[in-house]
Amino acid sequence: MSSPSVTAPAGPSGQRTSVAPPSRWELRACGRHGHATYAPHEEELAARLSGQTGAGQVWRCLRCGDFVLGEPAGTGPADQAPLVLRGKALRSAVMRQRRTP
Ligand SMILES: [Zn+2]
Repeated sequence: MSSPSVTAPAGPSGQRTSVAPPSRWELRACGRHGHATYAPHEEELAARLSGQTGAGQVWRCLRCGDFVLGEPAGTGPADQAPLVLRGKALRSAVMRQRRTP
């Protein structure tokens, strides 16, 4: 089963993007392990993944796509960003962990 593509609400930068809504697997993983935010050194990428709100700076979660208030969990070059599983790959990893005694 695949999730339909929807138009996401405007992010802090005011841009609207067409993204698939996070599945329960992404939300569950973020609830269990915390959001996967990352501040790349490349300014253009950092601008796309962050924003400024009245409450402070927000960073986009690489897993669920939600904007999270506060400092990013990691920072560095974009090619050093953590590999975050999403969608079917995340589901497969969770199911594999459940089968392992
Ligand atoms: Zn998240």
